Amino acid sequence: MDTESPIKEVIEEIKEFGGAAVQYCYQCGKCDTVCPWNKVINFSIRRLIREAAFGIPEIELEEVWRCTTCGKCPRECPRDVKQIDDVVAMRRIAAEYGVSSTLLKPVRSASASLNAEGNPFVQDRSKRADWAEGYNVKGFDEEMEILYFPCCYVSYDQRLMAIARSTAEIMNKAGVEFGILGTKENCCGESIRKTGNEDVFKTLARENIKTFIDHGVKRILVSSPHCLHTFKNEYPEFKANFEVIHISEYLNELIGEGRLEIKGEYSKKVAYHDPCYLGRHNGIYDPPREILKAIPGLEFIELYESREDSLCCGMGGGRIWIDTKMSERFSNLRLEQAIELGAEVLATACPYCIDAFEESRSGLNYEESIVVKDITEIINELT
Ligand code: SF4
Ligand code: SF4
Repeated sequence: MDTESPIKEVIEEIKEFGGAAVQYCYQCGKCDTVCPWNKVINFSIRRLIREAAFGIPEIELEEVWRCTTCGKCPRECPRDVKQIDDVVAMRRIAAEYGVSSTLLKPVRSASASLNAEGNPFVQDRSKRADWAEGYNVKGFDEEMEILYFPCCYVSYDQRLMAIARSTAEIMNKAGVEFGILGTKENCCGESIRKTGNEDVFKTLARENIKTFIDHGVKRILVSSPHCLHTFKNEYPEFKANFEVIHISEYLNELIGEGRLEIKGEYSKKVAYHDPCYLGRHNGIYDPPREILKAIPGLEFIELYESREDSLCCGMGGGRIWIDTKMSERFSNLRLEQAIELGAEVLATACPYCIDAFEESRSGLNYEESIVVKDITEIINELT
């Protein structure tokens, strides 16, 4: 009797937090065959789902925090088990009970910083628009064509600021009337939600939605596929619908309308990596390819695992804050795949992926072998 009730309680909580589908799993194991973790360690999402179905997930172990929410296994599941929702439900239980471990220390710090400053880096909110100084970027007003929402990583990280600056320069060259909300922006909340901190996500989302409405925002341009996913697919849960466009789609639009002209040549072999939240989660595969293939001199390389089968960089699902051993990084494998195919540039369209690939590049001493670029950086060089 003593052992049954807590298990039942856990099963009820998993259901309550959105993980009801664990009960449909019939343990076929198809999920494990596609999970990128099994390229670097032994990890079984199937086992985790079984434990959850029996009400005994070990929420204090790293296994619950491994899933990068890459979106590969839900596509394979014959029973529509929704592994990402199940894992997030387990993390929400952990957050509810205040499970603490050294592993989760950076997540707690990110969560506190998001509450206090609207970004996960313990950086001052007042510095959020510093990247834009000297780049002719105005504050948004409702007469403008589009709001540019750069993302926390692009706003604060020295390497990733190049993405925001390239975007601003491109927009100015194309004559787009755009603005930013700067210190009035909050993190979109995508990653913290995946760690189970639902309350923090809701606070960030509500504040952003109110700011967008108060400023008359209708169309939002984003650099990060994670912002795209959240604004497009998750903010409607709050009855807020904005038109959201990723920079890869917008660049294609500007080039197609003749507002942006590619002038130079780029005589390099370029491999393109599909970010999980741009590709698998939002079906955007062609615009970045069309942009790269339209560049004179560029030799496009298709990677082995591409489009729907793309290999995750390892940073999604809140893993951006959790330390991953060098030997367990998927981004190492991706960089090596690109080098093996002779790529001189690994291009992508997500700040998380760029961050992961840059770390692998320096960690594995590949600085001389390959460079990592966001597509905006390449286009900015050529327009
Ligand atoms: S693919 Fe679906 S049904 Fe098969 S083991 Fe994984 S979760 Fe269970
Ligand atoms: S979503 Fe991706 S990382 Fe998560 S368990 Fe499925 S395949 Fe593995």
